[in-house]
Amino acid sequence: MVNERQLRSFVKGSRPRFEDLLGQMVEVPSISMDSSRSGDMRRMADLAKQYLAGMNAKVQVVETGGYPIVSGGWITGPECPTVTIYNHLDVQPAQEPEWKHAPFAFRNDRGIYHGRGATDDKGPALTAMFGARYAIEQGWPINIRFLWELEEEIGSPHFATGLRNHSVIPRPDSVVVSDTIWIAKGRPAVPYGLRGLLGARLILRTGEKDAHSGVTGGAARNPLAELMEVANTCVDARTGRVKIPGFYDDVVEPTINEIKDFLKSGFDVRRFKEAYGFRSLRVKDPAEVMRRIWSAPTFEIHGLSGGYHGQGIKTVVPGRAELKVSMRLVPNQTPERVFALLKKHVSRVNPSVKMEREGALYPFKGSFAGSYVDCVKRAVRAGFGKDPAFVREGGSIGAVVTMQKAWKIPILFIGLSLPEHGYHAPNEYYDWGQASGGMKTFAHYFWELAKMGTA
Ligand SMILES: [Zn+2]
Repeated sequence: MVNERQLRSFVKGSRPRFEDLLGQMVEVPSISMDSSRSGDMRRMADLAKQYLAGMNAKVQVVETGGYPIVSGGWITGPECPTVTIYNHLDVQPAQEPEWKHAPFAFRNDRGIYHGRGATDDKGPALTAMFGARYAIEQGWPINIRFLWELEEEIGSPHFATGLRNHSVIPRPDSVVVSDTIWIAKGRPAVPYGLRGLLGARLILRTGEKDAHSGVTGGAARNPLAELMEVANTCVDARTGRVKIPGFYDDVVEPTINEIKDFLKSGFDVRRFKEAYGFRSLRVKDPAEVMRRIWSAPTFEIHGLSGGYHGQGIKTVVPGRAELKVSMRLVPNQTPERVFALLKKHVSRVNPSVKMEREGALYPFKGSFAGSYVDCVKRAVRAGFGKDPAFVREGGSIGAVVTMQKAWKIPILFIGLSLPEHGYHAPNEYYDWGQASGGMKTFAHYFWELAKMGTA
């Protein structure tokens, strides 16, 4: 049994140390996207290693060819189940003009922790670490490992290489990913699915250079107009329905029960519109909005270039145009198959269009039922006093699919960020409410896993 009183006092007593460690971490500007920060990235890895070693974990910085991975943990007994907690310690850039204070100067405003990376994902990483420390101090029969990546914000280019180092990053029995956001404060949300992504550039060259429309127009082909025609055959601009033949063939629709669970998440269409500054949406019904952003595929047009973009009008017929598109994918679509469908379709509509594939991520679908999920439910209830809603995320976390492919084990999500925390936005923060509830949740989760054993 978990001694609640003792756990509560452990959490309370950990607060000064937690705040100190989080402050030190936030003050290292580990911006993986900024190549001039490679020294800070190294410093981040060393600091992380030092934290785990300070809690008597065995830890190593694993080289990957890119920024390293920090891997370490405690072995209670070889016969005990092993769980790996995944977090990332690299952060988004912080150049937005809206920052009210220096983004890499940590400020603790009575339990509100300001700074870039506080909620994504340094705060949750440390929260899980304190939960683990409690479990290990209790001597519960479980092996806990941490896997801290430093390239998540740039799409995890070397993560798969790192995982091949089996001796330092062994295959666990299950994984918890702690890098997701609740839908509303006070309503714990546990995602079990992520959308994938496939990007493409459609390029059409019909001439060596731009020509004058008064001299050549009428006879000259217009690549911008032709690409707009192609785009129009790919997607219904009003409804969002993708028109590429075969595109929906592999799509697994969410069940009624899944949609019902989405509705428990506290999602609010008005707040969603406000948060993203939308004047209107394609649909109004909350269930339909959630179905679309979490469990339906999309075809988006991000840009169309070519011709003239300056002031007024310049009457050119462009010689070249480019359309930038991407598709969010859902289970069981694959980037390869969807790219093949797109290519076939585009070449039928306009054989002169050349296509370049850009970035591909597989969708992910974990389970929202079963013994691990029951453990998550009980742990979240113990930590936050409420049952979690099971939802999906519309975005992609590349490392999740990589772990699933490499290890073929259950992957669960215990995220601790809130929508108001400023994830990937200015004035990011984390707070003690989420940290203390999270420490209790993690401690309980480790207890649940220990009780379940290796069965
Ligand atoms: Zn993150």
